[in-house]
Parts: sequence; structure tokens; C-alpha cells
Amino acid sequence: MDTDKAYLIGLVVGGGIWGNAEDVFRIRLPYRQWGSFEEDPQRASLISKDILKHVSPLFRAVYGVSVSYETKKSGEWNILCEGDLTEIRSDLEHYGIKCEGELRKNVEIDKIALDLLDDNLKRRFIAGLADTIASTNSTHRRFTNDKQMVSFEVSGFGFGFVCSLCKLLHSINCFPDQILWNHPNFHCKSNPFYKKWKKGFKIRVYIDQYDKFGSFTFTSKVNSMSQNMDLEAKENTAMPCEYRTVDRPTVSCVHCDENSSLLPETIRNGHYLHNKHVCAVMGCEHAPYTRISGLISNAEDYINPFPVLVKGTNIEISKIIKENPIFGDRVYSKRLVRISELNEIYQKNKNELVFAVDEVAGYPINQVMKAVTFLSAAELGQLGGKRPGKMPDVLDEYQANNPSASVEIMLPDLLTPLILSMGGYSALVGASNPKVYKKLILMSPDNPYKFSVMPIKEEDLR
Ligand SMILES: [Zn+2]
Ligand SMILES: [Zn+2]
Ligand SMILES: [Zn+2]
Repeated sequence: MDTDKAYLIGLVVGGGIWGNAEDVFRIRLPYRQWGSFEEDPQRASLISKDILKHVSPLFRAVYGVSVSYETKKSGEWNILCEGDLTEIRSDLEHYGIKCEGELRKNVEIDKIALDLLDDNLKRRFIAGLADTIASTNSTHRRFTNDKQMVSFEVSGFGFGFVCSLCKLLHSINCFPDQILWNHPNFHCKSNPFYKKWKKGFKIRVYIDQYDKFGSFTFTSKVNSMSQNMDLEAKENTAMPCEYRTVDRPTVSCVHCDENSSLLPETIRNGHYLHNKHVCAVMGCEHAPYTRISGLISNAEDYINPFPVLVKGTNIEISKIIKENPIFGDRVYSKRLVRISELNEIYQKNKNELVFAVDEVAGYPINQVMKAVTFLSAAELGQLGGKRPGKMPDVLDEYQANNPSASVEIMLPDLLTPLILSMGGYSALVGASNPKVYKKLILMSPDNPYKFSVMPIKEEDLR
């Protein structure tokens, strides 16, 4: 292994797509957002120069492969590698990588990492990955423009790949700020029935950190990185995961796909409270194990076996109620509650529980208010998808014309979800009920950080 090879293998792992042809494969570049030659000729000419000036000579020298590129009107960029591919195939196979399909979707890089003996080799390998999968889009920021990120984006379900990449980044002082795992507990926290949670992984590193310790080879990426850094007022530094605080998690629903066969076995059938909880279950050396154990011992405060919040048309919501006997078999009492009254409770204490049965069991007012906002936006005809506008704006606008507006609330006889309706739309809000939910938590026999949540039954609530 040398630095040139490390870079090329990084490129191939990050962007490589192998088809049936014996003598050609492609490297997909993540430049769709930058557009084609027609949309952004200046940037496009930079990208093509980068390919011809940096990538092509390396491929010829190391593997005797010739390189050209193709660009589509949609903005898709591919590097085409042609020639005798025997040597590169055998290198990849040496690292346990099969030259089939889109590599980054199911690749392991542990064996490569063993050969990256010094920081230079690591940096070059990561540069290859970064040129293909790292996004420098300025929308990848934390909170404000002032905290810009480089975001490594991985599709598929390679939890092991993501964990190894995180480890590799740690080893060159590019401490990831956050990992977004491709799991319903992170992509779909509120609605346990929503199936479109498969949105990929993101590993985010502060751009300042990446500028210091990492690298890009593509000038186009270097330029866009420095443009983003200009948006920051001061430099941001990150700390290794194990020294950072772990924020209190928000409540997540128990999602119907937690046992999906797409998830690797270590992850499948688990419920995850925090992105670092996944690291702990995967045995990552940088996981804050003590703090994760602390969270797990109070997991009942952070889970909900019911929806946290589900929004929809009356038809969609009544379908869910019909399909779930524990919701459908309830006796509901109907209340009409003024929105102004609910808002008053919310303004006084955003953590208040309404229709509470004791001091910890009841319906969180903040979720109730999100539901009311959605329903008000629907009445105003302002629903963009299922996302209403900002809460105070929507409520103010709606109440300005309907000062005494009420929402219809169906209150169940047990602590199953509350049903809120206005006009043609409804929402379900699940209760906090930690004493009951604690009984549903089942620790895994072979991993002290992994647990699952058993389905809730009517008896549990009586
Ligand atoms: Zn080796
Ligand atoms: Zn990790
Ligand atoms: Zn880590």
C-alpha cells in the first residue's frame, strides 16, 4: 500500500459501481447538486480538469487503467475506468471487497484499515472517500451558518462500514460531530407505521476540523469547502465522542421496522435512544459507554410503544385505529377543547402532561400542540405535505379569524393514543407512561447495550 493506491482505493470504495463488463467500471461523483456543464460550466470545467489532472495519471501509473468521464444533463458525473482491471480487482479482493454493484452499499473496510499504517495513508484513503461521498453542501450545518459541516453520505445498510469510517476519522483527529444512522429510530421517531425511513447514513465532521486534518483532492471540493468556511464567524473544534456530553434523547416511537431484515444482525431487533447508543452496541472504541448505560437504565422515559405523533386525513387515521385492536377496542369520550386553552397550558409549561392519570403518565402538551398546529394549518389550506409552518405563526393566523376555535378530542378509557380532529384531518398523540413502558423493555442476552421493546398489550395498561 502506498499513498496513491490508498487514494484510488478510497475513490473506488466510495463511488465504485461495477457492472457485467470485464474491462470497465465507473466511479460515481456526488456532484448532482452542482449540475451539468450546461448549468454551471465553470464548476463543470473544474471537475473535468480534476479528473484529467489528478485521477487519470494516478490510475494509469498504479493500475495501467485509462480514465475518461461522462456527464449527464441531470448533473450526474461518472469517471470511466477502462482497460485490464485484473490488478485492481485482485487488490480489492485482497481486502475482502467483491467487485459487484455499488460498493459503498455493502462494503467492509476493516481489512483496508489494517494496511493504512500511518496518518498519511489514512488521510489519502479518506480523501478518496471524501471526493466521492462527502458533501460540502452548505446546508449541512449544525444549527446555524456558523457551524459548517463536511457530511459523508452512505446509502444502504453498512453499519459496520460507517463505524469503521468513524474510527478512521477519529484516528486522524477528524472527530465526527454526529452520525445519523440509517435506522427508523433516527429517521422516523414519531410515526411507527411510516415506511419511508430508509434515507441513508450521514457522518458529519466540522469543516474546520476537516480542513486541518483531512483532505480533498478535487479542487472543486476544496473551493466549496473554503466558501463554506467563509460563512463562519469563528473556528469550530470538535472533541472525540467519548469526552462529549450526551444530550438527553427525545422520545422515539417503537417502529414496526426495527426487526427489518435489511438491518445487520447486530442492529436488528434493537431500539436505539441516541446515535451513540448504536456505537455502543457495535462495540465502537469511542462510544461513551457509561453514559449510554445511564440512558438505558431510564429508557422508559425515552420510548413510546405507541405513536409519538401521527398526522393524516380522517380516513388515514381511522384506518390505523381499525388495524390496531388496542386502539380500536377502546371506549372514547368526546371533548371539545378550545385551542387558546391548550396554548395557555403549553405557554406555562412546555413539558406539561394533559389528561394525566398521575404525575408522570399523560399526554405531552408539546405533541398535542404540534397536532393542533398541523390541524390548524390544514384548516387554513397551508399544508405542504404533512409539514405545517411554524407553530406560533400558524396558530396566530388561524385564531385571528377563529378566536374561539376548538379541537375535537377523543379521550380513550386507557392510556392509548389521544385522537385530535378538525375538519377533514386528525392526529394521534401517544401518552408518556414510564411505569408501564419499563415492563416492556427486554435486554439482549448477548449484548449489554442492546434492548428491544416488547409489543404493548391491553393488560399492561389496566
Ligand atoms: Zn494486506
Ligand atoms: Zn462509533
Ligand atoms: Zn466513533
